[in-house]
Amino acid sequence: MQNENWETHSIAIDGLAGTGKSTIAKKISEMTGLSYLDTGATYRAAGLLALRQALTTTHVDKLIDALRKSTLEFNDGRIFLDQIDISVEIREPEIAEAASLFATIPELREYLVGWQRDFGSKTNGIVMEGRDIASVVMPNAGLKIHLFAHDEVRSQRRNEVSADELLRRDQRDITRSVNPLTIVDDAVQIDTSDRTISEITDEIYGLYLIRLS
Ligand code: C5P
Repeated sequence: MQNENWETHSIAIDGLAGTGKSTIAKKISEMTGLSYLDTGATYRAAGLLALRQALTTTHVDKLIDALRKSTLEFNDGRIFLDQIDISVEIREPEIAEAASLFATIPELREYLVGWQRDFGSKTNGIVMEGRDIASVVMPNAGLKIHLFAHDEVRSQRRNEVSADELLRRDQRDITRSVNPLTIVDDAVQIDTSDRTISEITDEIYGLYLIRLS
């Protein structure tokens, strides 16, 4: 089933690692009853598949082929590759690094953006979080949120990664030539550094009630 209006009934949430995206997006999905997709998990799944098959970024065609032959599913905040729940495995540091590297390759992004749009089009509206959601995946989203937080706060929140590593990945997300993290003109910008999750989700839910319900 394809729903023509899915995008305008949807919320795009973008921001760097450690800005609180996942926690906030999940909570907003519960509050609104909209579906939920963590697009970072799809890049991590691609990174996992690449590592398993020992593929480097020069073999992106092989990786896309492998992805096409596999089934990738996202359900209730968990991600499955060929029916196996890989939600915990994809949090490993080497998978995060592979995901960040492969995310710079245009062909892989095109494939995953297609997958993400297809996923969204089967819903009646979705909360999707990532880096290029408002700019590329759902440019017609009814509500676009851009989350920020100070580097020290983000680094504390992502304490499994060193501060240097986090900043290196940020640089890749900001400077890559395809679909870099950008702030679209119509995004509502929220600094999450010194506020509680419920303060932030209440603000976003208020915007949702005004613009989307
Ligand atoms: O959000 P998360 O840290 O799980 O994302 C893993 C990697 O996937 C990030 O380092 C980022 O480079 C990439 N990513 C992306 N575009 C998205 C979501 C994630 O490039 N929409």
